[in-house]
Amino acid sequence: MLKGIAASSGIAIAKVYKLEQPKVEIVKKEAVAADEVKKFNDALEKTKRDIEGIKERAAKRLSAEELAVFDAHLMMASDPELASQIVATIENENVNAEYAADQVSTMMVAMFESMDNDYFRERAADIKDVTFRLKCNLLGLRIPDLSAIDEDSIIVAYDLTPSDTAQLNEYAKGFATAIGGRTSHSAIMARSLEVPAVVGCSGVLEAAQDGDLVILDAVEGNVIVNPDAATIKEYEAKAKAFAEEKEALKALLHAKSVSTDGHEVELAGNIGGVKDVEGVLNNGGEGIGLFRTEFLYMNADHFPSEDEQFEAYKEVLEGMGGRKVVVRTLDIGGDKKLSYFQFPEEMNPFLGYRAIRLCLDRTDIFRTQLRALIRASVYGRLCIMFPMIATVKEFRDAKAIFEEEKANLIAEGVQVADNIEVGMMVEIPAAAVNADNFAKEADFFSIGTNDLIQYSMAADRMSEHVSYLYQPYNPSILRLVKMTIDGAHKEGKWTGMCGEMAGEPYAVPLLLGMGLDEFSMSATSILKARKMVNSLSKKEMEKLAEEALSLSTAEEVLELVKKTVD
Ligand code: PEP
Ligand code: MG
Repeated sequence: MLKGIAASSGIAIAKVYKLEQPKVEIVKKEAVAADEVKKFNDALEKTKRDIEGIKERAAKRLSAEELAVFDAHLMMASDPELASQIVATIENENVNAEYAADQVSTMMVAMFESMDNDYFRERAADIKDVTFRLKCNLLGLRIPDLSAIDEDSIIVAYDLTPSDTAQLNEYAKGFATAIGGRTSHSAIMARSLEVPAVVGCSGVLEAAQDGDLVILDAVEGNVIVNPDAATIKEYEAKAKAFAEEKEALKALLHAKSVSTDGHEVELAGNIGGVKDVEGVLNNGGEGIGLFRTEFLYMNADHFPSEDEQFEAYKEVLEGMGGRKVVVRTLDIGGDKKLSYFQFPEEMNPFLGYRAIRLCLDRTDIFRTQLRALIRASVYGRLCIMFPMIATVKEFRDAKAIFEEEKANLIAEGVQVADNIEVGMMVEIPAAAVNADNFAKEADFFSIGTNDLIQYSMAADRMSEHVSYLYQPYNPSILRLVKMTIDGAHKEGKWTGMCGEMAGEPYAVPLLLGMGLDEFSMSATSILKARKMVNSLSKKEMEKLAEEALSLSTAEEVLELVKKTVD
């Protein structure tokens, strides 16, 4: 049995499918050119067929714009320049095909990467991708293809990228990754896909091999490899009980989120794309408290255009039928990279050039997104918020650009809503401490505890080695949350929370007591949170929160909450 972190609740029992990129080792050999050219042509044809197959399977789930990446790869694989250079290298040097392919791809990638032009840098990523596949085919190595899985499986990987998760089909019953914590992005994706996941499970890659039977216990955070019959039986019963509890919660689908003494809060859902709206509505969400727009950018092979973004925002706003939708502007950097954008090399990317810092520098990217959002504002109730705000000046600068683009659109004769709220994430301790000043300028706050805890504790949220420092119940975190809520309320503004803490069953009583107005979480946590809110008295929770704030450790706080509400 291996221990990891339960990232997306549930229990699954199925065979392992390992997602491990093959190691490509290229050795230069002398060879007969004609044989190698034939080998190369065959491998190139197979490469094209592979890409077409992946595209065909992905077409069932992805939009036309998300599929564009495969067209770019097909175009690259059919590029006569690439093929003729590889053939010329084989013939001129009498070398093996994989060596020639490697030489040519390295040279072409370096050439495109050095160009001062986003379009060509995107092409460098395409060449890398296509020639990797080509070299694997030449060497007879299997490239895992999640979309081709056709029997119930549990995916075992080092980590899953957003594009990996986009390929998961109905046969993926869950996943286990070697790295990551509760708030890493693979964990967040698992929750929005509603598949059980255990992350930060070091040793899983060594212990589980293709075809092994595993139990994924994503309630406790355990992975059991090749269990005996009695253990399987035990977990089948647990899986059944889990499904029954989930079903029972459905009774609260249309209930109000109100405490026993009549205090109402809003329970909203976090989404990463248009497709997640349905999950929020099906789980009783009263709004969207966080739309992580970076996934629009991460699932594409180019910066999404104003029109492409407009369509996505419009669809989400319309899908929510007038309920509040909080859209966060682009938050890339840290662990969220783009294949077509070169980030500067930094020692600490989580502390570096990212999110609003990048947007205030590359205002062209920022303005495109703001225009798309403002244009979509007439289709629902839009709130916009900026990520990673540290200083009041950053907020002012970002808001000024918003105002400029709004005025531009009005001047262009475009209809825009007059009730767009402009707020900010509070996820940097400096912003929490200065919340009362920020509240004079921002329409609302949304507390991002995933980063707030990471930065307060100086503990990388991606590292399983320091995941013990992810302590939402630590009094220092509670104090920062309280300062933020009080700062907002002093100016008559509302505060939400969209970090994972908002959906933690034992955090809900404390947050209710501290006066949080909106709780936004993974869709699958909403009904559990509603059950909790419905069973609590706001007055009593105020007392509980006050007492919790006077304690010294996370353990003491958790013990107090459990004693009070269990
Ligand atoms: C957060 O930091 O709490 C948050 C909600 O944003 P993300 O997890 O996308 O960084
Ligand atoms: Mg964040």
